[in-house]
Amino acid sequence: MFIRDILGGEQPSISFEFFPPKKESGLEELYSHAAELSKLPSNFFTVTYGAGGTTRGLTEKVVDHFQTELSKPSIPHLTCVGNSRDELKEIISGFKTKGIDNILALRGDPPKGSFDFEPHPDGFVNASGLVSLIKEVDDFSVGVAGYPEGHPETPNKLADMEHLKTKVDAGADFIITQLFFDNHDFLDFRDRCRLVGINVPILAGIMPALSFKGVQRMCGLCGAKIPAKLLEKLMNANEEDIPKIGIEWAIQQSNNLIANGVEGLHLYTLNKSRATTDILEGLIL
Ligand code: FAD
Repeated sequence: MFIRDILGGEQPSISFEFFPPKKESGLEELYSHAAELSKLPSNFFTVTYGAGGTTRGLTEKVVDHFQTELSKPSIPHLTCVGNSRDELKEIISGFKTKGIDNILALRGDPPKGSFDFEPHPDGFVNASGLVSLIKEVDDFSVGVAGYPEGHPETPNKLADMEHLKTKVDAGADFIITQLFFDNHDFLDFRDRCRLVGINVPILAGIMPALSFKGVQRMCGLCGAKIPAKLLEKLMNANEEDIPKIGIEWAIQQSNNLIANGVEGLHLYTLNKSRATTDILEGLIL
């Protein structure tokens, strides 16, 4: 099943993102949360790909489990880190033979402690090359990443939009955004996409703040800002009240996006079922 065929309906799509555990022993817990979440109305799941391909085997394993045991169309993320074009070709062909029809194509991040992305000498410098390769190998529905607040490495936001357009023109069917907490950033990003001729569905990345330290760490990594109104609530709360605040914020954010015609909500589950369940229960669809 191609994700491109289920996007663009009257209702926004709902998708859930998971990350593979560091070790096989963590799979059982992940599968139990995912099984709970598979009972909720959603269109597809995605599974991240560890930096440097560290979790590749587990990414494929988790996607396979979600598709066969939970009957949920699932998308592996794939990055350019550490692989040549030929190796990537092999990985992509392998996905097809395992019944995977969809891929989220990413460049990946620089190694820990470094600011510069280091492409494989025979690999890709950015994600658009990977999108073209995927389309060359077989028929996949391909998603790419978008950044409502701009990608942290690109101070020039106009250039960032041009790079996103190149990725989409290479054959991407949809965009999933980085997490953000201020809907103005998303709505303005969507308008700017349409102005430069990016017309594929844009799915909004929503992550609830479940701990103050956790949200600070995530925002530090991806460059998203915490708006003053949310920051004030988080700073003045006891740690045990933070999840309630984070979930309420995510619900309000999601309902406002729905009212503004968002094409999809992509929930970063953090591999837990409770918060995502609460958010879905609060949606006015
Ligand atoms: P690109 O689109 O290649 O962009 C990277 C930078 O290069 C941008 O600044 C862009 O403006 C610039 N650029 C692009 N093309 C050109 C060009 N032609 N000339 C000059 N500059 C150019 N990381 C993981 O390791 N594993 C994951 O599973 C993962 N999942 C993610 C899921 C989502 C929804 C998102 C939003 C991010 C995810 N990431 C993941 C993080 C991602 O790998 C990083 O944000 C990475 O820094 C950029 O990846 P990209 O695919 O957006 O890169």
